Amino acid sequence: MRKAALSFDVEQDMPPYLDTWHGVEVGLPKILDLLALKRVKATFFFTAVAARKYPGLLKRVIDEGHEVGVHGYNHERLDKMAPGEACRAILKATTIVSRFVKPLGFRAPNLQLPRILASCLARAEYLYDSSYAAYKPPFLREPRVLDVKVGLVEVPVAVTSSILRLPLVLQKPIHSILWVPRVYFSHPWEYVELKTPWTRIDCRLNTGRKALALLEKLIQFLEKSGFTLVRIIDIVDTYRRNRENVPYQPHVEQSPRSSRIGNKLIHVPGGAAGI
Ligand SMILES: [Zn+2]
Repeated sequence: MRKAALSFDVEQDMPPYLDTWHGVEVGLPKILDLLALKRVKATFFFTAVAARKYPGLLKRVIDEGHEVGVHGYNHERLDKMAPGEACRAILKATTIVSRFVKPLGFRAPNLQLPRILASCLARAEYLYDSSYAAYKPPFLREPRVLDVKVGLVEVPVAVTSSILRLPLVLQKPIHSILWVPRVYFSHPWEYVELKTPWTRIDCRLNTGRKALALLEKLIQFLEKSGFTLVRIIDIVDTYRRNRENVPYQPHVEQSPRSSRIGNKLIHVPGGAAGI
């Protein structure tokens, strides 16, 4: 089966430039509506701040069968921090998201994860990381074990998110040369119009409704090309099953945990036992 995964980094609008949340408030529900319509499951990496601020949306993501991972505490650059400090930020973010669901995957803000933090991710019980970009050194492509000692699997992203906002006719040649399995990523703020005149051109091109229409076309194109769209954890599961150097245990399906944030009860206890 040819697999591809769509993933979305759930964060404030265009960090570090803005501190608004239009993308999460307006863009994320539209993405979820589209995925429901197309019956596609995806992976959403939440910052801990986004999880705490929008528990209802996080619950919707889980309830609709998508995967939830972690995208740092407040989109801090882990590569600009001392390893100990960066690890503490990862653990803190993980603790917060774990109140809702057990996260199995991590993506570093700005796709910058110092390799030394692999052991920290393993300590936080992640099964995989998806912070490397195939278009940046060391140009990783297919899934591989990032750190043999801890067995953490790396699933790199294939192309930068602005590629997904090019007209499909320009995208097709790019998709046709990518490997299998592959991971795409984008952000909810790309699916709204942000009124910031100074924004970089690649952050403005075909955003809002156009981005959503292009996402729908991409899904159709991939499915017509024989791809099955899956969550990243599904790619990791297959990889782990087939590799002797990674201890294989099937992951337990994510299901919401009951949690109280402030006065809000987030969810009734479900089948979260053991995760
Ligand atoms: Zn991000």
